[in-house]
Amino acid sequence: MSTRLTVIGAGPGGYVAAFHAADLGMQVTLIDADPNPGGVCTFRGCIPSKALLHAARVLDEAKHADAYGVSFGSPSIDVNKLRAWKDQVVKKQTGGLGLLAKSRKVTYIQGRASFVDATTISVETSGGEQRVQADYVIVATGSRPTTVPNVSIDSPKVLDSTTALELPDVPNRLLVVGGGYIGLELGTVYAALGSKVTVVEMTDGLLPGADRDLAAIVAKRMATYAEAILLETKVTAVKDDKKGLAVSLEGKSAPSGPQNFDRVLVAVGRRPNSAIGGLDKTKVKVNQRGFIEVDAQRRTAEPSIFAIGDVAGDPMLAHKASHEARVAVEAIHGKNAVFEPRAIPAVVFTDPELAWTGLTETEAKKQNIPIEIAKYPWAASGRATTLDRPDGLTKLIIDPETERILGVGIAGVGAGELISEGTLAIEMGGRASDLKLTIHPHPTLSETVMEAADVFYGESAHVYKPKK
Ligand code: FAD
Repeated sequence: MSTRLTVIGAGPGGYVAAFHAADLGMQVTLIDADPNPGGVCTFRGCIPSKALLHAARVLDEAKHADAYGVSFGSPSIDVNKLRAWKDQVVKKQTGGLGLLAKSRKVTYIQGRASFVDATTISVETSGGEQRVQADYVIVATGSRPTTVPNVSIDSPKVLDSTTALELPDVPNRLLVVGGGYIGLELGTVYAALGSKVTVVEMTDGLLPGADRDLAAIVAKRMATYAEAILLETKVTAVKDDKKGLAVSLEGKSAPSGPQNFDRVLVAVGRRPNSAIGGLDKTKVKVNQRGFIEVDAQRRTAEPSIFAIGDVAGDPMLAHKASHEARVAVEAIHGKNAVFEPRAIPAVVFTDPELAWTGLTETEAKKQNIPIEIAKYPWAASGRATTLDRPDGLTKLIIDPETERILGVGIAGVGAGELISEGTLAIEMGGRASDLKLTIHPHPTLSETVMEAADVFYGESAHVYKPKK
């Protein structure tokens, strides 16, 4: 009899695991509370946010076209139609995943799963309890938004990423709590739709964790369309006073007295969904931060149970979840697969986008790793000039001894599409000379990667740098 695998959670971790396992001949059951596979990413995360960001980008480009003599006048925005289009995008993606599950003969059960024991799963469905017997289980239950510590904000006017993506309305004044990628992406959407957006961030810069040179480019542009960016400041109280929300702020940039907003969006982080019923009846261990502990194959302390995706540790990104899915399934299939990427790319879909992969300058400094940095400013890129978007930077982090590429960071329009060349270079053990000697098409933004390598050797045609 073929291996019986049950996957709990059908996000980009769970559905990729289920589909790959079915392709390898396993008998697969996939369980999720939603009507189709997709998870947070497709229903309430990556996909709806990028659909709305696309609309934001069109609005922004139309506005800026004035600079080269093309005027569209004031846009008219039909929020109901925009919401319906975004919902349609989600439906198309998740419906497609449902069909893919069916064609692979994956049994999809809609309901909440809990463990009876290590190999028996109970599912609470609308039609009652179902039990599934499995040889192996993959836990891919993802994560959910956290709230602001010590601040009770129980009001329907307060949004989290899920409710913000539902696009209930376009508030006149919106406070975004948290200057991480989710807050900034959603802040970008609402600002483009016409909200006056204020961002409040506890640390001394937006996108904490991202390379400072690159984050500065995003912050500079954001300052042009946000009403205010309040750094080293935190929210201490939120009161619903019927007219709106009175928010008290404390810290370096805090204005005096409570400030009024029509809505507050809380985007201060996410926590793993590891509180799964009956998990304590297995040997699975959960660490202090709530992540399920796994080894390099994504196997937990219970040998027949694996965990992948957001519930199994940082970075909480869809493509990391999908990659782990393949590793776990192949390990179950008896292959010697391990999760050991040299680089996991991360993209912030703001305007401009910010993307990085591998080692960052900040991380190298923290770990005392000797590096050389080569930067190519997009002001020197012909393609960026034709797009009227010279606000970009491509940055290579290079091992000074071997000239190997250790990290790549890019800020600029389309950075998310450009970063994969960097990841490939790192995975292939590529050197700066490999990027330099690879012919890139002209005029493209991808040339900035090649030219950053030219800068490293003091040989860029478009940036003068004295020879070393
Ligand atoms: P999830 O996608 O979280 O799916 C887990 C599923 O398990 C959910 O459907 C949940 O309902 C279900 N579940 C949980 N417990 C149970 C249970 N007991 N029984 C049954 N079902 C259960 N990442 C990117 O890489 N790129 C992006 O652009 C990006 N944008 C994002 C934007 C937003 C607004 C948000 C919130 C997140 C974004 N992310 C992005 C993060 C990305 O969504 C997650 O990293 C990814 O979804 C993790 O996948 P996963 O498979 O671990 O779990």
